[in-house]
Amino acid sequence: MFSLSASAYEIDYQITVAEPLEQVNVKVCFKKHVPRALHNGAYRDMNSLNNTIGPDGKSLYVSDNKMRLSGVKPNQCISYQASLNGAKQRRRTTYRAGKDIVVNNNLWLWQPINIGNKDTVKLTFNLPKGYNVSTPWTATGKPNQFTLTTTPYDWDSRIAIGTFKVTPVNIAQQTIQVAILNSTEKRKLEYIDWIKQAASAVAGINGSYPVDNAQIIITPTGKKREAVPWGEVQRGGSVSAHFFVDSFRPIQEFKDDWTATHELSHMLVPFISRNELYLSEGIASYYQNVARGKAGMISVETAWDKLLAGFARGTSSRRMQKYWTGAAIYMMADRELRKRSNNKQSLGTVLDKFNNCCRPSTSSWSGQRLMNQFDELSSSKIFTTLYYKQQDKLAEEQAKRRFPDILPVLKEMGIDELKRDTSKQLSGAALDIVR
Ligand SMILES: [Zn+2]
Repeated sequence: MFSLSASAYEIDYQITVAEPLEQVNVKVCFKKHVPRALHNGAYRDMNSLNNTIGPDGKSLYVSDNKMRLSGVKPNQCISYQASLNGAKQRRRTTYRAGKDIVVNNNLWLWQPINIGNKDTVKLTFNLPKGYNVSTPWTATGKPNQFTLTTTPYDWDSRIAIGTFKVTPVNIAQQTIQVAILNSTEKRKLEYIDWIKQAASAVAGINGSYPVDNAQIIITPTGKKREAVPWGEVQRGGSVSAHFFVDSFRPIQEFKDDWTATHELSHMLVPFISRNELYLSEGIASYYQNVARGKAGMISVETAWDKLLAGFARGTSSRRMQKYWTGAAIYMMADRELRKRSNNKQSLGTVLDKFNNCCRPSTSSWSGQRLMNQFDELSSSKIFTTLYYKQQDKLAEEQAKRRFPDILPVLKEMGIDELKRDTSKQLSGAALDIVR
């Protein structure tokens, strides 16, 4: 008899890594249903894959980024190895810091394309003594065991393996899971303080942190020109933030830097389709200043100065447009909501409602769907109106002025141009946005 439960996956991954973390040995056992193939994400490089072995002892047929499982039956296992020596790969997929390593999961994780809620896919890591693993997946409670989550198989994610401990940090009723590679204990405490400050600023937008158990990885990269030369949010498994840092710089430089608040603000919204990046970069760029202003990390005047400087860059630089176009739209929505409700509603209250109705979300949102949802939650047409106006601008052939018309909204708040008149006090309406 064919039934749904009979076709659910029950797959068990045993992942074994030995010092000095140069290779991952993976054994995959299929208890019930066997998928037709395993895939390594959207990754087009198979150079790291070695020694695939099927139940019959012969190697598996791998092509076109598919590890084919024809002939594998329920209750059988396969195995393979993946090299963690980045030199063979075309793209940078591993980062080492001392004995610790950060690895793109598509380097070693071959998984079914269509994992659903009925499926159980468990990953158990067998690590050298004293080592731990940081993953974006849900911990089962058993040591180093996780359940693979149902985000699309081609969303990027990373794990870190090393002699660190994953530190849970409480942020407004939620927890973030912080892994800090190759650092002294003193420095780790300083980094936790830095991340905690930024995450608390994000929670300060509406009183709660947007996701629970977000994976945070901090990787020292040697001497760089700034404290946080690179930060990034990934969505595979769940939401995670990755910070690559210059550990030689004083911690105050980290606290003065906007990157952490920017990346963690990305978590306020789910994955937005890549061709509407401005709606995702916009929320992070808006709140990197607004949230820091609200939290007192920068003064309200500085928050506005930075916001206006960003808008100015958005109007003049193609590269900056995607960040500040979105930020301008969210600013206008925030202002309009506050104006209509005498400050009872704001972008923050809408995001809070959104978090309750629609997160965690394991699918990609179009800009239109997100704006419709925000409208519904605010009983308004504010978001779609701004969105369609911007879509029209983007559609204009040879659009020279793609930046939203923010000056009228700024003028209402007593700001006459994209640079603040420092001889004037900020108006109450302008202060409401950032305090
Ligand atoms: Zn960003």
